[in-house]
Amino acid sequence: MNQGGKAPRGTKNGKPVRTVAAWGGLLVGAAALAGVVATSAAQAQTGADPAPPDCPPEGAAARLAEARRDDGMLSAEQAADYDRLLREKLRHQQAPAQSADGAAVPLVVHVVHAEDGTGDVDDGTVQEQVDVLNKAFAGGFAGADTGFSFDLRDVTRTANDAWFEDFTSHADEARSQLRRGGAETLNLYLVNMGEGVLGQATFPQEYETDAAADGVMVDYRTVPGGSRENYNLGYTAVHETGHWLGLFHTFQNGCDRPGDYVDDTPYQREQSSGCPEGSDTCPQRGADPVHNFMDYSDDPCLNNFTRGQARRMAEHWEAFRAGGDAATRLSPPGDPGAPTEPRSPDQAPAPAPEPAPAPAPEQPAG
Ligand SMILES: [Zn+2]
Repeated sequence: MNQGGKAPRGTKNGKPVRTVAAWGGLLVGAAALAGVVATSAAQAQTGADPAPPDCPPEGAAARLAEARRDDGMLSAEQAADYDRLLREKLRHQQAPAQSADGAAVPLVVHVVHAEDGTGDVDDGTVQEQVDVLNKAFAGGFAGADTGFSFDLRDVTRTANDAWFEDFTSHADEARSQLRRGGAETLNLYLVNMGEGVLGQATFPQEYETDAAADGVMVDYRTVPGGSRENYNLGYTAVHETGHWLGLFHTFQNGCDRPGDYVDDTPYQREQSSGCPEGSDTCPQRGADPVHNFMDYSDDPCLNNFTRGQARRMAEHWEAFRAGGDAATRLSPPGDPGAPTEPRSPDQAPAPAPEPAPAPAPEQPAG
């Protein structure tokens, strides 16, 4: 099945379900993968309409709650292509990574806010978001310790009404001015995504052809304590960072092989909304992973990554991100408010992912 089928606003139980792509060369369904990652963001944006224009005010809150996190919706062909690129990269490595133990990801947060201060997420809240990222990837809520940690290197703040009011249209401009580091650096943009999509991310496979777009953006109201009801624990950033490290949705490919290419996340026919505990939508064994960060459940429902996902993220890290240019390293930790002068290459040591010893071939099952 074509899970990423062109359905910007499918319906489920009579409610709209957000399935939009618009970021960094990803295009929902369609024939976007001609060049795998060569599609421009501009083209992608023409294929998606993140803001439903005719939404009646009645039921708006419910609709907002239904609007899930992002693009990251891939067709079966796109997912297969991305997996093929991963396998090609890993072919030359003797011992595929089993975990990312010790991989400290340099993190730069970019706050884009209105000139009147709307959206100017304060430093304390930025730190809370970083703490949530670290806790989630360490298995601190539930599930696997992925081995990834995130090291906040800098926070930039940009007051720009045009960017704030329509970030998608200005994304290329904004990112080209703001983005820091190489493939190994997570650039997290806190922006106004409008009323629909909560976040978007690029996949590691896209870095080579569109480095400037690399990163994660989330709506500023999804940060811990934000005003997005049901989506304000900071888990949108966790979900999007999962994509940034190569994960597909748990419902990728629905009940069809190879699912999400992770063998310890049960098959799932479609994205969850709310928290449908006990839901089991596919004939294969296992209930839907509604608590997995890569599903679309409400924030309070989410709590885990699996070991298989941890391994797959480690593989992507090793294949696409860890070997990044050492000259792009940022300033030393402990200086989050530093101004943005050019960095010296030898200021900070590289986060070196440790090769994992015991290879155990992953079964791309689902
Ligand atoms: Zn997603």
